[in-house]
Amino acid sequence: MTQPVDLDPEDWDAFRETSHRALDAMIDYLRDLRSRPVWRAPDGAARARFTRETLPEEGREFAAVLADFEQFIKPYATGNIHPMFMGWAQGAGTPAGMIADMLAAGMNSNCGGRNHIALDVERQIARWMASVFDFPPEASGIFVTGASMANFLCLLVARDQAYGTNDVRLNGLRALDTQLIAYTSREAHNCVRQAMELAGLGARHLRIIDSDERRGIKIDELHHAIAADRAAGFTPFLIVGTAGSVDTGAIDPLDRLADVAHSEDLWFHVDGAFGALAALAPELKPLVKGLERADSIAFDFHKWLHVPYDAGFFLVRDPETHKRAFAANAAYLTRAPRGLAAGDTWPCDLGADLSRGFRALKTWMTIETFGATKLGACIAQTCRLAKKLESWIDASDAFVMRAPVTLNIVCFSVKDDPDGALAREIVMELHERGEAAPSLTILDGRPAIRAAILNHRTRDEDIDAFTEVLEATLRRARKEPHPIEALREPPHGPGKTPLSQD
Ligand SMILES: *Cc1c(COP(=O)(O)O)cnc(C)c1O
Repeated sequence: MTQPVDLDPEDWDAFRETSHRALDAMIDYLRDLRSRPVWRAPDGAARARFTRETLPEEGREFAAVLADFEQFIKPYATGNIHPMFMGWAQGAGTPAGMIADMLAAGMNSNCGGRNHIALDVERQIARWMASVFDFPPEASGIFVTGASMANFLCLLVARDQAYGTNDVRLNGLRALDTQLIAYTSREAHNCVRQAMELAGLGARHLRIIDSDERRGIKIDELHHAIAADRAAGFTPFLIVGTAGSVDTGAIDPLDRLADVAHSEDLWFHVDGAFGALAALAPELKPLVKGLERADSIAFDFHKWLHVPYDAGFFLVRDPETHKRAFAANAAYLTRAPRGLAAGDTWPCDLGADLSRGFRALKTWMTIETFGATKLGACIAQTCRLAKKLESWIDASDAFVMRAPVTLNIVCFSVKDDPDGALAREIVMELHERGEAAPSLTILDGRPAIRAAILNHRTRDEDIDAFTEVLEATLRRARKEPHPIEALREPPHGPGKTPLSQD
C-alpha cells in the first residue's frame, strides 16, 4: 500500500499560528510603511537567493519559507504602496483588498465559466460600472489583467464587427479585401499600437493624430485622416480616445470623438485605464463627458481604485457584439440545463482566457468597504495635490512645468537643462535614496520628470516633502555633475513613433 499524499497541513493548529504571525507582520508592514524608504534595490543576498539551478527536492517547514519571504522578498517591493511613490500610474492597494485577495485564493474559484457565485459577483461589477459610466444596464463586462489586455480585446471586437458576415474568426484577415484603419492621438498609450500588431492589422494602420496644447486629439486632423484613407480605398473602423493619458493625464474631447465616430460609422473605444474612474468624483466627472457614448471602455481597478494587482476591466455597450467575437464552442464547455455546468454566457465567451481567478471579489470588497463617495474623494484628492505641486513649480526658480495638469499628473523639468541630464540625475538619486519615486518620461522629444499622484495615502505634507527633496537633490546634482548620458528611450522598432508606456 502506498502512503496517500496531499498538500494540506499536517497540523492545522500549527499552520493557523504560523499564518497568523505572517498576516500580522504584513498588516504591521502596511501600518508602518511611512517609516521605510519608498524603494530599495534588492541586495546581493536577496538576488542570490533566486539564482539556484535545481528544484528543492524536499520541502521545508512553511514557517521557514515565510522567513525567507520576510528576509529576501518583502523588503524589496516596487514601492507603489508608499505615499511618496509617484512613478508611473500605479495603484497603492489597500489592507481590505489584500484580505479579499487572500480569501479569493482560499476559494480558488476558476472564473472561466460554470454555475457559481463568483460569476454573479463579476456580473455585479459590470452592472455597477455600467451605471458609473451611464452605459445601458445590460452592457457586458469582463475582468482582464489590465487595460493593455482590455484595449486588445476591444480591437478584436471592433475588428469582428467591421468584418461583419465575412467572419474573421472563421476566414481570417484575408476575408476582407480592404485594409482596416484605426485612429488615435499621439498621447495614446503604447499598448494601442501593440494591439494593432497583435490583432494582425499592423501598427502602420494605426493613424497617430496630432494633439493640441491641452494634449487632446485634433478633431479636424482626424477628419482629414479619415477622408484621406477612404479616398485611398482603406476602411476606417475604429477610433481610440484616451481619458487620462499616461504621460500627462490629458483627456481627449470625448463628445466630439463620439460625434465623429457616429457620423463616420466607426467603433468608438475609450482607453480610460486610470482616468475613466474620475467619473466617481462628482467634481471631475464633467471632464470625462462623452465617455457615456463610447461603444467600449478599457479601465483598471488596480490604478485609481487601489484594488490589488491585477484587475483590469473591459466594458462593452452591446453584449451581443461582445460575445460574437469570443463565444466558445468547445465540447467540454457544453452548457447543461441544470447543475454546475449551467448558465448561458460564461466569461470564456467574452475574452481570450479560459481559466481565470476571482478578481471580482477584491473589487467588490473594495467598493463595498469604502463606497463610491470615499473612493471618488480619494481620486479628487490626488488631483488637488497635483494642482498644489503645479503651483509650487510655477512659483519655483529652478523648475518649469512641461504640460498642463488635467487630472493628477505633473510633468516638469529643470530650467536650463536642455538634454534632461539633471532631471535624470534627480530622479535616479531620489529613487536610490528612497526619498521619493517620481518617474521620467519624454515629452515633445525632451526628458521630463513626471509625478503621477495616484496614492490615496499621499498628503499635503508629502507634496511639501517632495518639493524639499527635489530642491536638495538639484543642489547636490549641480555641485557634483555626473557625466551626461543620453536618456535611454524604450526599445522600439525602426520607423515607429514611440507611444507612452505604463
Ligand atoms: C496604465 C495604462 C495602460 C496600461 O494598463 P495596464 O493595466 O498596465 O495594462 C493603458 N493606457 C493608459 C492610458 C494607462 O495609463
